[in-house]
Order: sequence, then C-alpha cells, then structure tokens
Amino acid sequence: MPELPEVETIRRTLAPAVGARITSAWTSGMGLHMNRRPPRAKLQKLVGTTITGVRRHGKYLLIDTDGPYALLAHMGMTGRLRLHAAREARAPHTHVVFGLSGRSPRELRYSDPRRFGQIDVVERGKEREHPALGALGPDALEGNIDGDVLYAASRKRKQTMKAFVLDQSVIAGMGNIYASEALWRAQVRPTKRARLLTRAQATALADAIHEVIAKSLDNGGTTLADFVAADGAVGENADHLWVYDRAGQPCPRCEAIIKRAVHQGRATYYCPTCQTA
Ligand SMILES: [Zn+2]
Repeated sequence: MPELPEVETIRRTLAPAVGARITSAWTSGMGLHMNRRPPRAKLQKLVGTTITGVRRHGKYLLIDTDGPYALLAHMGMTGRLRLHAAREARAPHTHVVFGLSGRSPRELRYSDPRRFGQIDVVERGKEREHPALGALGPDALEGNIDGDVLYAASRKRKQTMKAFVLDQSVIAGMGNIYASEALWRAQVRPTKRARLLTRAQATALADAIHEVIAKSLDNGGTTLADFVAADGAVGENADHLWVYDRAGQPCPRCEAIIKRAVHQGRATYYCPTCQTA
C-alpha cells in the first residue's frame, strides 16, 4: 500500500505535468473505493484547464489547475498515477486517463488493480469541505508535528499507540510500515495506551516520524507492495527498514528478537526488549 513517502515520490515525479493543458478526460466506468465511480461529469470540468501544481496532504494528492477545480487522488492499496507517452499502450486496470497537451502528447493515467483508490474533483479553496480532506490532521512531513502536538493530542485517548499513530485525524499520512518503524525508533511499545505517553516519548516520537519519512524519501519509497513511482523507478527503502517485516531477526538496537503481532487486523513489528510499555 503506498504510504506518505511513496505518495510524495509520486507527487515529485508528476512535476513535469505542470504547465500542460488537459485536453481530454476518460474513465473506465468501473467503481473504485466503496464502489464509487470517478465522477465523469466533474472530471470533464478539468478539460481545457492547465495544470499549475501538484500538492499532497497525507496520502492524498491534489492536482491544481488554473480553473476552479482540482483533481483529488488517493492510491488506496494498489493505485498508481503516472505520466505516459500517449502512444504507449494502456496497462490493464487503467481507470482514469487525462490527455495532456505538449510537443509530444502525454497522458496522466490512474491504474488500480484492486480498486480501493479514490478519484474525485474538488473546488479549489474548498478542499476542507471534502469529507476525506476535512478529517485530516497535520501532514506527517510538512505539518509541524512536534512533541507538544503529539503530547496534547494523546491526552485522554484510550487507543493504543499503534492506533494513535495511524489515526489520520492526528497525523495525516502515517501508514502501517512507518508506524512500526517510528514506534521502534522512539522506543515506544505499540500496545501502550496513548494517554500514558510521556512528554519525553512524545518528543522522541515526533523526531522518529520525521526521521523515518525522510529516510524513506531518500530511498525513493518502499518496494514491499511492488511500489513504482510515477516515472517507473522502483523504491529501495525495504532494504533499510529496522523492524517492519523482520520478525525473528535481531533488533538493530539491542539484538533481542523482533516480534510480529496483529493489531486491528494489521501486522505490527516491535522489539519486546527496548520498546517500553
Ligand atoms: Zn531492541
């Protein structure tokens, strides 16, 4: 599943689309997340506008235009948003295609084999009114997350630290891989109750979140779900993970054996020795 670093990598690789005019919009007619079909009539409103920028909030991408609307995209489990030469054959599971002007015509294509992603159109300046965006907390990369923010947000919360870190209303963009990584880095047990987080741990966790995301961005994202950036480059961050998917291997900090547990249906990896409860 693409997480924040992967979505940020996609955002950066879509930069060459800025300045191109959208000449057409096509959809397969298939439903995506919650069986919602990308809204064909709204997508048509983007035709004739010029792409002015690509933004990201959490795991959502926003493609801005010089018109009143922006394209909203979420990759779900297997979504990919990539630029292709228009002459290139469309891959199977391509569900949305925008034609782009230019000396050599290109297409912005959204493909999604498992169809858990989202494609929508939002009015610019009213992004927060969209139900998906309105519920998001500060962005994990750019949202000024610090110890004070996490300490304040964790008070009175009965949820576990794993659930807290994954709560998009607390930190937008944290996903399962980086939650395990950040909690290991901050030496916080995933099953600890959020309300019991100490101020020192909150500061360590904020630093850890920044560190794991920066590290993954440097490595071009994580390849676990055969992640491929918009330009086709394969991320290599899986080689650099400390605990995720490393059950049975020694902890890189204390050499105790890393454990795997399942919380709310998602795998969690942690060190039972140096991550305190
Ligand atoms: Zn350890």
